[in-house]
Amino acid sequence: MELPKELMVSVSGVRGRVGEALTPEIVARFAAAFGAYLRERTGEARPRVVLGRDSRTSGPMFVHAVTAALQSVGCDVIDIGLAPTPTTLLSIRHHGAAGGIVVTASHNPVEWNALKLASGVGMFLDADEAPAMRAYVADRPIPRAGWDELGTVTVDTDAAARHLQAVLAIPYLDVEGLRRRRFRVALDCIRGAGSAVLPPLLEALGCEVIGINLEPDGRFPRAPEPVAENLGELERLVRESGADIGMATDPDADRLSLVSNTGRAIGEDFTLALAAQLVLRHRPGPVVTNLSTSRILEDVAEAAGVPLQRAAVGEINVARAMERAGAVIGGEGNGGVILPDVHLTRDAAIAVALVLQLLLEHGEPLDRIVAGHTAYTIVKDKLPRDAGSLEEAYAALEAELDAPEADRQDGLRLSWPQDRRWLHLRASGTEPILRIIAEAPDPAAARDLVERARQALAGAPQAG
Ligand code: MG
Repeated sequence: MELPKELMVSVSGVRGRVGEALTPEIVARFAAAFGAYLRERTGEARPRVVLGRDSRTSGPMFVHAVTAALQSVGCDVIDIGLAPTPTTLLSIRHHGAAGGIVVTASHNPVEWNALKLASGVGMFLDADEAPAMRAYVADRPIPRAGWDELGTVTVDTDAAARHLQAVLAIPYLDVEGLRRRRFRVALDCIRGAGSAVLPPLLEALGCEVIGINLEPDGRFPRAPEPVAENLGELERLVRESGADIGMATDPDADRLSLVSNTGRAIGEDFTLALAAQLVLRHRPGPVVTNLSTSRILEDVAEAAGVPLQRAAVGEINVARAMERAGAVIGGEGNGGVILPDVHLTRDAAIAVALVLQLLLEHGEPLDRIVAGHTAYTIVKDKLPRDAGSLEEAYAALEAELDAPEADRQDGLRLSWPQDRRWLHLRASGTEPILRIIAEAPDPAAARDLVERARQALAGAPQAG
C-alpha cells in the first residue's frame, strides 16, 4: 500500500495528523496487518486483541476502523474504551490476549492521533517484531476472514478498576497510612485518559483531590507534554489551594510530572528519581534508564548502593534492558516510571502511588525533599544533520573532548562522573536533526559542553 509521506511510521506503530496523513483507511490497513501478523505469530485461529483509546476527538472514529479491520482478519476484539495506555497494556495480560492496540498520540498535539501496537506480554512491539507486521502493511496480501469466521467484539468495562487494584497491591504501599495522612493533591489530567484512573486512585489513597481538566473530552487546554513550562495553571492551583503536591499527566497518562508544595513545577526528571528513591528503600536492586535522563537518578542509585544502567532512547529499549538486568525500577526522565512488580511499561498511576508513599515515609514537604538533591541544569540543542553520516563526527568529538566514559549504543554519550556532567548526541528518529543534550551542576558548564560539541561538529566532515 502507498503510504502518505507525512505519515510517521515507527517500530511500534503509526501516527499522523488527523484528516491529513492519518485517515480511517490508513488506520484500518495497519490494524488488519497487525491482526494478520498476530494470527501468523501465535498460530491461533482467533487471536484476541485488546483495544483502548485516549480522549482525542478522533478516537472513537479510529476505534471503529480498527475494530472492523481486526474482525475482518478473524481477530476477536476486547474493547476497554477510554483508558490510559498502561491500563490497556495491563489488560492484554489479564485477558491472555495475543496483543493490543492503543489509539493515542500520547504527548503529541491535539491534531495528531496514532496507533500503538503491543504484543501479548503487554509491551510495545520491538525492532525484532515490527518487520513481520510491516510486511503486511507494505505488500504482503492480508488473509481476510469469510462471513463465518469474522471476529467478535466484547466490551470490557472493568479495565480501570483492575488497574487501580494492581497499583494498590504494590507490596510496600501503606494504603492505610496514606489514608490517615490525607494528602491534598492538585491534579491536572489535561482532559485526557488519566481521569479514568487517577482520581479514583487518589480517592482510594485517602487524598483530597483538587482537580482541573478532568473532563476527558480531548480538548486539551495546554500543550500536552507535562514539562514545567506547560504547568502554569497547576502551579497556581497548588498555591491557591495549599496542596501538598501537584500532579500532571500527558493525554494517555503514561507520564507524570510534579509541582512542589510551594507551587513550582520541579521538572519531569524528578518523578522517576523520587519514585526510585522510594522503591530502593524497600527493594534495593538494579535501576535502568535511557542515555538522556538526568543524573539525579544516578545520584539516587549511588546513595542506595545499586547499579544504574543506561539503555538506548525509546520506552521498549528501556523495558527490555530492565528485563535483562532484573531491574527493580526504571523508566525515562520524561516522567515515565516503570515498575516491573506491576508491569514493564510506563505508568503514571504507579508514579502517583510511589511519590505519595515517599512523601509519607520521608515526612518532609516535597520542596525540602527536592532541596536534598543536587540541582542540575540540562541544556538541549539541535543541529540540522543527516543521520546517515554521523560516525566520523562522533569519532572526532570523542577524540576532542576526551571523556573518561563513552557510550556508543545510541549516538554518542560522553560523561565525566567526577564532575557529574555528561553530553549526549543522537540523530532524531523522526526529523533530520541531531539532538544535543548536556547536564552539569553548573549551568555554564552544561552550556559549554553543548557549545564545544557544536564547534567540534562544525569542524568535522559535513554530512551528505
Ligand atoms: Mg504518553
